[in-house]
Amino acid sequence: MSDESLVARLLDLAREILREVGSPPQWRIIGAEQQHEIDPLNGDIVPFTMLLLSHDGEPVGTLPTLTGDVPDDLALTAFVEQVYDTLVEDSWGEVNRPCPGHRHPSWPTVREGELFWHCPTDPHRWDTWKPGYRENHPS
Ligand SMILES: [Zn+2]
Repeated sequence: MSDESLVARLLDLAREILREVGSPPQWRIIGAEQQHEIDPLNGDIVPFTMLLLSHDGEPVGTLPTLTGDVPDDLALTAFVEQVYDTLVEDSWGEVNRPCPGHRHPSWPTVREGELFWHCPTDPHRWDTWKPGYRENHPS
């Protein structure tokens, strides 16, 4: 995946999460920044992409990061969990996406490149099946 399309994908996911938590006005996506680090074990150059966020006009200190350049479901899920964690923790739990019918928030994950939300206490409960997903993936 090219650098530009990876950055675009991460920004899309972050925007979708912000929409799902009600587009709180105190949160802004500034952009995404790509950097590299050297793996101390083997000397490999490892790319990573950080999402730049601001909260109440201040840059956020701990930034959600996708490590590597292969945005598979596992890497994207780790990324969306960090984005969501940052939103929830930095707003003291005020910003979240409620789990329908429950008193806790739902949790984001990525399946086949798409953002989904699930219940943290019932792994079989998904409340936003995308159109056609359930038909194509009978459990
Ligand atoms: Zn729930």
